[in-house]
Amino acid sequence: MPSTAPESDHPYAVPGVREPSSQRVRAESRLQGQLPCARCRYELQGLSIAGNCPECGLPIGATILAVVDPFAKELQTIPRPRLTNLGLQVWAWSALATALVVWTMRLSELAREVLGTTYWPGWAPHTAVLLTALSGLGATALVRPHANIPVRFRAAATAGCLGFIPLAILHWSLFVRIDASTLSFDYFSQAPDQSRLTIRLLCGLLCVIITICLRLNARVLVSRSLVLRTGRVDRQTLYALAAAFGVGVVGDALRLASGSFGSKWMEIIGNAGIMIQVLAALLVTMGLAGVAIDSWRMRRAILSRPLALSELVGSDAGKEHDHDPRRA
Ligand SMILES: [Zn+2]
Repeated sequence: MPSTAPESDHPYAVPGVREPSSQRVRAESRLQGQLPCARCRYELQGLSIAGNCPECGLPIGATILAVVDPFAKELQTIPRPRLTNLGLQVWAWSALATALVVWTMRLSELAREVLGTTYWPGWAPHTAVLLTALSGLGATALVRPHANIPVRFRAAATAGCLGFIPLAILHWSLFVRIDASTLSFDYFSQAPDQSRLTIRLLCGLLCVIITICLRLNARVLVSRSLVLRTGRVDRQTLYALAAAFGVGVVGDALRLASGSFGSKWMEIIGNAGIMIQVLAALLVTMGLAGVAIDSWRMRRAILSRPLALSELVGSDAGKEHDHDPRRA
């Protein structure tokens, strides 16, 4: 739906957001709100914005640039910031924890094969399934974190959350039904279980879809973080994660296909598939860690309102609210 207002250059991804209002401030303006110096944390309240920090000499303008969000007025209020932040953290960290639990299973299987150890983490299969479901529960925070999110963004996030239901069932089938009963290291298997590979492949496809579906609203939340959106930390983490899951799907498909080739080709393709599977496992784990770290970095941008310049120096229009500014 086209909007008559010019689109903001804010990478907010929500259509129809207008340009930030120009914030002209007189050079003699004094800081009305509390503002600790960006370098030494000295309280700068009451000082001229054109001056320097009396403690360390850092220009006060530099501190203002570091904390003021020029889009503060355009950003939507998050009605339940604590719940939204909790959901975001549970989504990201449960997903990373799932990967680490699977690593525990695989490494103990490897140790059984190579070192002859007998340890098997009996708690791991059910824990991985529970963490998968928990991650999906947390993801519901991304469906509608605030008002004025386009319908297709919300629909995509809803689809992403629903995707966790078949994913948890497939994980149960893979970890509890198959892995906990065979206890064998699949990567050494000359004749891999075709149904297990098929489940793996479906899990990978689901994870690609879930990641792409949740990315839209995750980006909406990322855009609230001054640090993340100005490109200092943003690394398109969710695209990289979706690609990593996709690499795993290719590995699974190669191993599945290797069953229908002649023996020479079967070995080459099967081994390539195994290498790609292991590479994907590493990339997915790194990707999930990146998402978890970014989610943690975003917590302040979600828990507190963005800080507008007018809240720090007052407004000539005299229409501003008289609330306490908070640091971004
Ligand atoms: Zn200072």
